[in-house]
Amino acid sequence: MSRSLIWFRRSLRIDDLTAFRHPVEMGHHIACVVVRDSKYRSGDGSFASRTNLYDHAIGSLAADLESLGGKLLLLDGNPDVEILTFLAKNAITDIWFADEIEPDGIKRDAKVKAEAEQLGVRVHVCQDQYLFAPSTFVTGTGKPYSVFTPFKKRCLAQLPPRPTDAPTNIKWLDIDGQTVSASMQTDIDGHCAMNTPAAYEHFTRFCGRDIEHYDEMRNFPAVDGTSRLSAHLHLGVVSPRRLLHQALAIGGEGASTYVSELLWRDFYAQILFHRPDTTHACFQHQWDTLVWQDDAEHVSAWMEGRTGYPIVDAAMRQLNTTGWMHNRLRMIVASFLTKDLLIDWRIGEAYFRSHLLDGDLASNVGGWQWAASTGTDAQPWFRVFNPVSQGAKFDPDGAFVRTWLPELQNVPDKFIHAPWLMSYSEATWLDIKLGHDYPNPIVDHGVQRLKALEMFKKVTLTREPS
Ligand SMILES: Cc1cc2nc3c(=O)[nH]c(=O)nc-3n(C[C@H](O)[C@H](O)[C@H](O)COP(=O)(O)OP(=O)(O)OC[C@H]3O[C@@H](n4cnc5c(N)ncnc54)[C@H](O)[C@@H]3O)c2cc1C
Repeated sequence: MSRSLIWFRRSLRIDDLTAFRHPVEMGHHIACVVVRDSKYRSGDGSFASRTNLYDHAIGSLAADLESLGGKLLLLDGNPDVEILTFLAKNAITDIWFADEIEPDGIKRDAKVKAEAEQLGVRVHVCQDQYLFAPSTFVTGTGKPYSVFTPFKKRCLAQLPPRPTDAPTNIKWLDIDGQTVSASMQTDIDGHCAMNTPAAYEHFTRFCGRDIEHYDEMRNFPAVDGTSRLSAHLHLGVVSPRRLLHQALAIGGEGASTYVSELLWRDFYAQILFHRPDTTHACFQHQWDTLVWQDDAEHVSAWMEGRTGYPIVDAAMRQLNTTGWMHNRLRMIVASFLTKDLLIDWRIGEAYFRSHLLDGDLASNVGGWQWAASTGTDAQPWFRVFNPVSQGAKFDPDGAFVRTWLPELQNVPDKFIHAPWLMSYSEATWLDIKLGHDYPNPIVDHGVQRLKALEMFKKVTLTREPS
């Protein structure tokens, strides 16, 4: 009799999960397990909120398994040690898990695979976390894709398989032990609940109402125009294959843009898989010699949302309060940190990853290196976002800024993204003391832009001729 263990790490669902469906279809007796790694549970602040999201996700996975007559076993400790002990103790013949693309996870899985095989256990690594395995596509020269558009074309020419429902008629192994308590949270701080049925319901609503205009509305932070399922995708509570096929079936500009965004997620995953060094080194190595500024006061002002640029400050305060930031704002604040304050992208990347509820190594490093012009962006390094014009374009009536900066509530629209342009009498009439109620800009964008260009140009001039 084959005794299969399904090890859940991310991909915390049973819908469209190859690692769950295959052993059931092969008639194996199965058990399901998660390992709670103490290393990742000691954080505070948003790290703690992320741990909560994970706990919600495994609670709802446990509920889904219970509805099929099973349970979710819980091990505490170092994952590789715990899993290998479990395999030996319970005479497991096969272990199944979804593939991992983060460098630490790849190392851990290689160790588990080698040692499990020594125990005589068959190891099955399934492709479930992304649309495609990160090694699926390479360019004509055999290299991984470093430009998004050709990557997207290649993916769309070979779609991932259609999603499959969770199997029923499961033969469960009877193994005693601590289990995850089944729970189905209904709401998480403005996010859709962290369970598969709620997330699909939310997505179906998004498809019925918002996806048609997604290509236009996705840029406005005051509008609820995006799917807000990035944390669910990160934990694998939803299947990216199901979202992709549902969006493709709708068609139109909005759905097609949505599909592109899903593919950006795969794009950055394959970059991280092929270039694990990009967590700390620049994707384009030439920029490793950039000399960033070291200004603790500027870094704190950026983190705390007191730079004097309203769109930046509102975004950072939203992040600090809720663990969420709109994509347009992520681009603006990342550009501001790297191109206005000239601070190393790695500082912003680490801050985002510890504060975002959807913090994801591949997408975050990809997004930061894109914004800092050290990554895969096809645009040249001299693109610098202007925080005032970006604010005016994407938050034209200042609705987003006013939500997070109540001190600017009464500022007229024409000054909302540049309150320092108000005259003393205008500010006095509005009862705002600039520099006291709200900071004056800590840097001058025009001056800093030139400094950024100089900083990048210096590197290009000192580069060895090839
Ligand atoms: C500096 C920076 C840092 C970022 N850090 C993260 C991060 O840690 N985790 C994360 O999930 N996303 C990150 N992103 C990408 C993007 O901002 C979020 O995925 C998006 O805002 C999530 O909102 P949504 O689910 O409503 O997205 P939607 O607009 O509904 O998009 C659908 C899905 O596509 C994926 N997606 C969309 N845009 C991107 C993108 N640019 N790169 C990769 N995937 C994308 C997400 O999984 C998203 O849920 C970052 C972007 C930037 C510029």
